[in-house]
Amino acid sequence: MTEAALAAAGADSYLQFEAKQQPAWPDQDALARTTERLRQVPPLVFAGEADVLRDHLAAAGRGEAFVLQGGDCAEIFAEATADRIRNKIKTILQMAVILTYGASTPVIKIGRMAGQYAKPRSADTETRDGVTLPTYRGDIVNSSAFTEEARIPNPERLMDAYHVSASTLNLIRAFTHGGFADLRRVHAWNKGFAANPAYARYEKVAAQIDRAVRFMGAAGGDFDALKTVDLFASHEALLLDYERALTRIDSRTGLPYDCSGHFLWIGERTRELDGAHVEFMSKIANPIGVKLGPTATGADAVALAERLNPDNVPGRLTFVARMGADKVRDALPPLVEAVRDAGLAVTWLTDPMHGNTFTSESGYKTRRFDTILDEVTGFFEVHRAAGTIPGGMHVELTGDDVTEVMGGTEDIDDEGLARRYETKVDPRLNHQQSLELAFQVSELLSA
Ligand code: PEP
Ligand code: MN
Repeated sequence: MTEAALAAAGADSYLQFEAKQQPAWPDQDALARTTERLRQVPPLVFAGEADVLRDHLAAAGRGEAFVLQGGDCAEIFAEATADRIRNKIKTILQMAVILTYGASTPVIKIGRMAGQYAKPRSADTETRDGVTLPTYRGDIVNSSAFTEEARIPNPERLMDAYHVSASTLNLIRAFTHGGFADLRRVHAWNKGFAANPAYARYEKVAAQIDRAVRFMGAAGGDFDALKTVDLFASHEALLLDYERALTRIDSRTGLPYDCSGHFLWIGERTRELDGAHVEFMSKIANPIGVKLGPTATGADAVALAERLNPDNVPGRLTFVARMGADKVRDALPPLVEAVRDAGLAVTWLTDPMHGNTFTSESGYKTRRFDTILDEVTGFFEVHRAAGTIPGGMHVELTGDDVTEVMGGTEDIDDEGLARRYETKVDPRLNHQQSLELAFQVSELLSA
């Protein structure tokens, strides 16, 4: 019955279209057995929660909220430990308080968490010291270890992804509703950060936030309401076998929702109008995103919006612009203007990470803090000029003290990258750099 309803709702129509970036599964029967099991398991998130997020994203599209979406480029199963998850949540909550002050609006918190395990890759193989193996496609497909066996796509990993997502979500729900997220506590962490002489430049904003928090308390503000927050889960909906297997018909509305996460996005490499990803995402009712790089045209943006949000529902569609700091001021205006002129409801986010990646002299894939900030600045400039709304930002970060992005107050240089470079795919802002970015964007927002 459910499967028939899903088929009737078009959840399988994507099979008629070309799906890029899918692994070459060596054993189709094993894949079918796993996806069959995944069709039976409980949903990871609920349709009603996705609807709440859609309304929040609609508010961000009107300038009544600001979105902070952040987390790893690629989550790693073995790193889904309590400490690391807590550090990531803590970082996102700290950034959110700082941004709330700058934006003077609620900040919608979305983790690239509890499902961000599938990675699009630019090459199918990787060569090291004369040995060529299949590329690492994320923990949901294979292992990053450079051995032949590790790189074979293993469908059992889809089931592992489900279980690791479930335990991650369990911790997210506990941390965000169990006292950890209390505004005063998060603010105290920020005060600790700004009290470090190295970060004295952020003391002024921290002091202003402190005054605001104390004023709220003195005026009888309801701190009970500020003890819990919502942190939504998101990932790139890349692996269609997995996404389809976790799609369920919502009993309230009768519509299909992809219950692997609240918010799903289509990556820059899989956003073809006639591709399987766009087709699949057009059929699910979650709020969704599309990454748009510098080659996207205004016509592309309008066509994607018409295809993915034909009823023009506010909050349904988010465009995540990832142009590069050197291109954003030229490449973004035609897109924003075309969407604006067509009267399409789109929430715009900036991803200041993916257009700014390069290889350092010593060979690390990295980004520069100042370049990241420059792309955010350009994003705001473009929207101010067009009279449109900069709805939020999407960043790759971790709560740990890694050294993957160059710059910031600690001024990580090429040599410093070697100290603690851990990412398996793209470089992430560390805890300090994330807070610095939040303080600087907060200043931009309030300017
Ligand atoms: C990503 O978000 O990790 C990613 C691969 O981004 P994009 O699709 O924008 O290249
Ligand atoms: Mn990435």
